Amino acid sequence: MKFTPVLLPVIIETIADVIEKNAVEVTDLDQALGDGDHVINLQRGIEALMAERSELTQLSWVDAWHKIGMTLMASVGGASGSLYGTLFIALSKAGRDKDLTLQNFADVLTQGVEAVKKRGRSDLGEKTLLDVFIPVANYLHTVSVDLTPLVDVLENVSNEAIAGVESTRNMLATKGRASFLEERSLGHIDAGAKTAQLMICAIVDVLSKQLTLPS
Ligand code: ADP
Ligand code: MG
Repeated sequence: MKFTPVLLPVIIETIADVIEKNAVEVTDLDQALGDGDHVINLQRGIEALMAERSELTQLSWVDAWHKIGMTLMASVGGASGSLYGTLFIALSKAGRDKDLTLQNFADVLTQGVEAVKKRGRSDLGEKTLLDVFIPVANYLHTVSVDLTPLVDVLENVSNEAIAGVESTRNMLATKGRASFLEERSLGHIDAGAKTAQLMICAIVDVLSKQLTLPS
């Protein structure tokens, strides 16, 4: 079974749905800690990706990631736009001339996450979307493909993302707008971590369904 950019339209549509369904909850979170525009920012990017979703299927993974990154940079405002733009452009750079095996993808994602860390001058434990992406990338590095069926890997990825977002609840925000709140940032999960988790779980759902389709 091979995952190809042919799945991107359904992934983008599934992400659009899940962000819409959770828009009120996430906006409340971003109002508590930030300026409340996170969903609108993301939706602007998702809309731009919807418009080019069939074009993306014609590209290789690295070219598709590059195009996604450029589109997100141009369409999403706020900190999250440049962070996601950076992520996808770095994935594209790291993935060039590599087969998309799980092991390689773990390396590629780690390089993407490293680029986001640099761009945001942030790291694990600062109450941001990195508290979801870093544990997911770290988990993928531990997977032995011979021992763990892909369905289980996908389920574990979801669980890591969910644990990651929950971990932000009792963190003090030191990056982004939430850092202005200092101790008052305690007790709320981070909006950007929540949407990162929702999007990762949406991708996992699409891929899991693909795995269980009769071949
Ligand atoms: P803005 O904060 O500019 O309004 P958004 O509301 O779209 O942008 O995104 C806010 C989210 O971006 C936060 O919830 C957090 O997860 C993430 N974020 C903000 N600043 C940083 C940073 N320096 N490093 C990593 N993630 C960050
Ligand atoms: Mg905001």
